[in-house]
Formats: sequence, C-alpha cells, structure tokens
Amino acid sequence: MSHPWIADRIQHFDSSGIRKVFDLAATMTDPINLSIGQPDFPVPEAVQEAAIKAIREGKNGYSPTQGIAPLRDALTDRVRSQYNHSTRQLFITSGTSGGLVLALMALVNPGDEVIVFDPYFVMYKSLVGLAGGKCVMIDTYPDFRIDLEKVTAAITPRTKAILFNSPANPTGVTASAEEIRGLAQLAAERNIALISDEIYSLFNYDEPFVSPAQFNPQTIVIDGFSKSHAMTGWRVGWIHGPGEVIQQMIKLQQYTFVCAPQPAQWAGLAALEVDMRREIDAYRRKRDRIVAGLREHYEVSVPGGAFYVFPKAPWGTADHFVHKAIENKLLIIPGSIFSGRDTHFRISYAASDATIDRGLEVLRRLATRT
Ligand code: PMP
Repeated sequence: MSHPWIADRIQHFDSSGIRKVFDLAATMTDPINLSIGQPDFPVPEAVQEAAIKAIREGKNGYSPTQGIAPLRDALTDRVRSQYNHSTRQLFITSGTSGGLVLALMALVNPGDEVIVFDPYFVMYKSLVGLAGGKCVMIDTYPDFRIDLEKVTAAITPRTKAILFNSPANPTGVTASAEEIRGLAQLAAERNIALISDEIYSLFNYDEPFVSPAQFNPQTIVIDGFSKSHAMTGWRVGWIHGPGEVIQQMIKLQQYTFVCAPQPAQWAGLAALEVDMRREIDAYRRKRDRIVAGLREHYEVSVPGGAFYVFPKAPWGTADHFVHKAIENKLLIIPGSIFSGRDTHFRISYAASDATIDRGLEVLRRLATRT
C-alpha cells in the first residue's frame, strides 16, 4: 500500500529494478560493472576548463530560460546547416531528460496515445503516464527493427505522438535510413508528432547518422551533451522543432527547471569545439570486442550504435539469469526494466577493456546452465 499522501500520477513509476542493481553495486567489492549508461572517458579538458572559467567569472546566476545566447546560436547554426526548416527553433534544456519531460507535458493530453517501441528507454513509459497519456507499445523483437506496418496498425484517432530513439537504449540498434524515412513520412501524413531522442547520435559506428528531421520538418529533436562528452551530471541538452511547439516548452521550462545550469551551458559551448572521434573510435572497438566475445554463446543483434548490447538470456527468465550473473559479481540489467518481455538483458560496454573481458568471461561460463 502506498502512503496516503502520494498522488496517483506517480504510481506509473517503477524504478525498483534498476535501483536494485545500483544498490547491489554499492555493497559489492570489486564488481564487474557493465550496468552503467554513461561513458567511461573523462569530460574533455577544454570543457572542464570552460566550466571552471565560467564559475570564476561569476556566470553562476540564472540564464535566460531558453539558454545562453552563444550556445543557442551555435547549435541553431548547426541545425540550420543540417535542415534549413524555416519554422525550426531551438532552446537549451536541463538534460535530455528535462527535454523529454517538457515535450511530453507540452504535447500529451490525458487519454492521448503515444507510440513507443518495445524495448524502450525506461523513462518513456513513466513520463507518458505522468502526462496522463497511454503508451501503445510496438514489439520489435527479435531484431529490434521498425516495422512500418505495425506502426500504421497502431495509429488511432487518439495517437498524439511517436517516441523514437536511434541509436537505441537498451539495444544499441540503429534504424536504417529507409525505416527512418518511412516513419518520418508516416508521422507527417497522419499529422502525428514525431519525437526523436538523438542522445546517442555521435555513437554511430557503421553508417552516417540519419535523423527523421531530414524527411519531416515537423520532427521534434531532443539531444544533449550527457553521452557525447561524458557530461551526465552537468544536465545540459537541447530541443529543436516547430516554433509554436518550442515556445510552449520554453514557457513550461520557465515554471519548472527554470534553466539548465549556467556554468554547464558555457562548458557545452566549449564542447561543440571538441573533436570526439578518438573516443567514438574506441567505443566502436569496444562494440566489436563485446560482440565477438558474445556471438558464439548468445543470440545477439549486432548494435550499430550507443554503447549497449541486448542479448537473449540463454536459459530461464532474464531476471533469473541476471540474478545468477550478479551472484558472480557481474552487474547487468534485466530486460524487463525496458520491456514487456523478460527474455533479454542489457550490457553497457562503456567500461575499460579489462572490465569488458572480465564480464565476457563470466558470461561465457553462464551460457550453459549448471
Ligand atoms: N534518452 C536516452 C535514450 C537515454 O539513454 C538517456 C540516458 N540514459 C537519456 C535520454 C537522458 O539523458 P540526460 O542525461 O541528457 O538526461
């Protein structure tokens, strides 16, 4: 029974599963931690220096709600050179998560339906619920591809938005240009808001990154510095999309997050100048390392991006299998956290090669039930 003061809307949230793994990690000595969704490389030196400089120069107060002008201008220039949509506007958010909250709160009415691809990033279901909406899940197993026929069949008069994420958390799968074009055109034809979570756009290993905004000028794009520059704790992201929608989100930010942390916004401006190719290349090699180590023993879709793989549990339920892994000091996340199914598990390879190898050794041992 929940406490009598707790509002109904919060009942949609269940963070118990993922928290359990993190709590366990805190109590274990020398765990093999492949559970964390953040890069293992440091924040680039120039970005650290920019934050320190901003703090020392007294740039510590509120910034305009829509973000400091130099960062907004730099990102707007970049977006304009990519898309040249006349009504596209951009503002700075408190992380990508902050952007997701604003987008869903600004768009979803109680009873509206939001199409989400299962498996999905944990927040999507909770945030749609918080807005009073209902997720209509599209099952993408076993290869985690977008099936446009399924999407078309899921659309009803109540469909307000589609939440799309490629490269994806938790699978690491990147949608093909054809899938993305099809989804973008479908959303445009049916006048449904397409929200594209592009936080892993830099971690794209095999093909150039493709955004649905290339095919649908009304696409709402959410992005941020958390993953690309290892700035997860700094809380800076951005959104761009149709001006009228963006203005409503800015209004809501004014009364909720107020602004992204100002020193971190100056750091973000410096981050735009930093070449991350070396880090991305290293993550491509980590992807290859983990896939090569798993392939023989596990059913796994080769991920084209992000820093996750999502193999099938070789026996039992995924929850049971993950339990066994944790008993062997290997921290991974059960797929049921991200899905209606309890069959797969998420590995994050944002870790040192030595940790990845230790993890692979445990996974090889656990591949057959003893
Ligand atoms: N979207 C996805 C798909 C993510 O994986 C994450 C972080 N795990 C976020 C959004 C949130 O990122 P941020 O730190 O910018 O809030």
